Amino acid sequence: MTTIIFANLNLISKFHNDYFREQRRSMVELLRQKGIEDKRVLEVMGELPRELFINPSLHNRAYEDTALPIDCNQTISQPYTVAFMTSLLKVEPGNKVLEIGTGSGYQACLLYLLGAKVFTIERILELYEQANVKFRELGYNINTRYGDGTLGWKEFSPYDRIIVTAASPRIPTSLKEQLAIGGRMVIPVGNKNSQVMCVLERISENDFKEFRNDHFKFVPLIGKEGWESE
Ligand code: SAM
Repeated sequence: MTTIIFANLNLISKFHNDYFREQRRSMVELLRQKGIEDKRVLEVMGELPRELFINPSLHNRAYEDTALPIDCNQTISQPYTVAFMTSLLKVEPGNKVLEIGTGSGYQACLLYLLGAKVFTIERILELYEQANVKFRELGYNINTRYGDGTLGWKEFSPYDRIIVTAASPRIPTSLKEQLAIGGRMVIPVGNKNSQVMCVLERISENDFKEFRNDHFKFVPLIGKEGWESE
């Protein structure tokens, strides 16, 4: 009897795995059609199951190219946005990467799969704890911190790459200071309704070069160097 139940469970999970793998393949194809060219980014997005990072009631929408709600009124970003930002970040294996806004943990896991040494900060305790459980279950060695990410994580700075996954009114000074010379930061900057994706390169101790890309809409970055809490 036990064997039959297990056999059936295996069949069901095999069905789900195959189903999601196919959906993931279609999502990657769509990202390619929308202009994402970075092969390594497409490869890791084709590997990492997005359904693991969202509520089971939304599993049927896991591979839609849309942001989806997670707990605490926050979101897991749209796959296109994740792919676009990760491509702009140009992560090299071995890079030390700081992410602000752990959220579901999906972006942090992609950075990990790209070979980065990942540090991620989340200001909502519940999300921080959920992400820790996920990283442990996946066996991914990701450094996490609960707190205000607008102040960065000085102890492990400088970072080769910094990615901010929430909307900021400006580029936080602490994050600029913690970026390595030759390093790169990707951050959406603007008002609460619309932001421009900024890429900041640190040329020397005091010189930065800034590029601006398309418009996006993120949940607000709340903290000392971000927006005030509502
Ligand atoms: N990267 C996430 C993912 O892969 O699911 C998506 C992040 S969600 C769009 C933005 C996250 O930033 C939310 O979880 C929010 O709580 C967090 N956040 C906002 N302000 C923050 C701050 N000052 N420090 C750390 N996290 C912050």
